[in-house]
Amino acid sequence: MKKEVVIVGAGPGGLSAAETLANAGKEVLVLEQNKIIGNKVCAGGLTRNAMKLGIPKSLYQRTFKKILLHDTTETAEIELTKPVIATIDRKDLGRWMAKKAKKAGAEIQTETSVKNIGKNYIETDDQKIQFKYLIGADGANSIVRKHLGLESKKVLEAFQYIVSKRFKDLEMFVDPDRFGPVYAWIFPYSKTTSIGTGADLDYKGIKPSTVKNNFDKWCMQRGYSIKNSEFQAHTINYDYSGYEFKRKFLVGDAGGFASGLTGGGMYQAIISGKDTAKKIIDSKYGCPNIHRILQTKAIEEAALGVLEINKTASKIGYGLLTKMCKTQLLGKFFVEHMA
Ligand SMILES: Cc1cc2nc3c(=O)[nH]c(=O)nc-3n(C[C@H](O)[C@H](O)[C@H](O)COP(=O)(O)OP(=O)(O)OC[C@H]3O[C@@H](n4cnc5c(N)ncnc54)[C@H](O)[C@@H]3O)c2cc1C
Repeated sequence: MKKEVVIVGAGPGGLSAAETLANAGKEVLVLEQNKIIGNKVCAGGLTRNAMKLGIPKSLYQRTFKKILLHDTTETAEIELTKPVIATIDRKDLGRWMAKKAKKAGAEIQTETSVKNIGKNYIETDDQKIQFKYLIGADGANSIVRKHLGLESKKVLEAFQYIVSKRFKDLEMFVDPDRFGPVYAWIFPYSKTTSIGTGADLDYKGIKPSTVKNNFDKWCMQRGYSIKNSEFQAHTINYDYSGYEFKRKFLVGDAGGFASGLTGGGMYQAIISGKDTAKKIIDSKYGCPNIHRILQTKAIEEAALGVLEINKTASKIGYGLLTKMCKTQLLGKFFVEHMA
């Protein structure tokens, strides 16, 4: 079989690329290993920028005008007049994006895992498909990225419990002694809540297993009923090393577009998928939106570099952030500029 564009992975990155390409009349095949599109470990937090991407409000689980940012001594309440974060069920997002991509003319094959990649073909268990262009949209453990010989050194191991309780507020907690430079979160949905944190595998100050133990103890101390809750974990790749490799491309987590500072990656996946598709449609297209993501990533990773010097640096950095966020003006600036 021959297809003009083969996309590996039907996450937000792959589906935004598929829809854009199909709308331009390209022949697109998306291969997804899972049966259910959107069945991805994720807290489902859409930042303000992500809320501007046209995702219907009816898909939001909850919206929040206020974020509570706690460090170990004080709390900043950042409140805006419009929602700053919405939460979404990834399966709802996946269903909606897949429908739009199909309507545009893209073909999506689920339960199809790409096992091998050659110069101009991919192989699944029972198919060999030739392509003119290949897009690796296959997430943090991308086979396309491996095929291109790229390592992933900047990786977060993020984990969460889905607690069967509706929490009122969206909250973030910074506590370097417990969690190192990564924050813990409470992201409420309509009936349940994601409570999670993560560990930067590159950070030597605290072991990921210690973060997990500290997190479990912290949850129990705060009375969160994690014992009977579903535990989920997945990696987030924020190691960007390029997106265009002749006729092969990487988008979203496969390309390392996620934020190492916030762990957010849905917005980056959708934007990088769309820009990459436009590049395939018109080779002169300059991918300005990808460049904007990369500028933000550079600033975030400089901040992360300071937070990761040691625990004292994390405490000072996060202490300053909380104090700054207590002044409404800087708090608003912070949430408005989260990617
Ligand atoms: C615990 C946790 C919480 C998070 N919370 C947030 C959040 O609140 N907000 C946010 O913006 N981001 C969050 N993220 C990050 C976010 O989930 C990712 O950045 C985002 O999903 C990346 O999208 P993607 O399209 O690049 O890849 P993915 O969503 O990972 O999609 C990749 C797809 O490729 C498929 N695939 C993989 N390998 C193959 C193969 N060989 N063959 C066929 N198919 C394949 C997978 O099944 C998957 O469907 C979180 C991540 C974690 C782990």
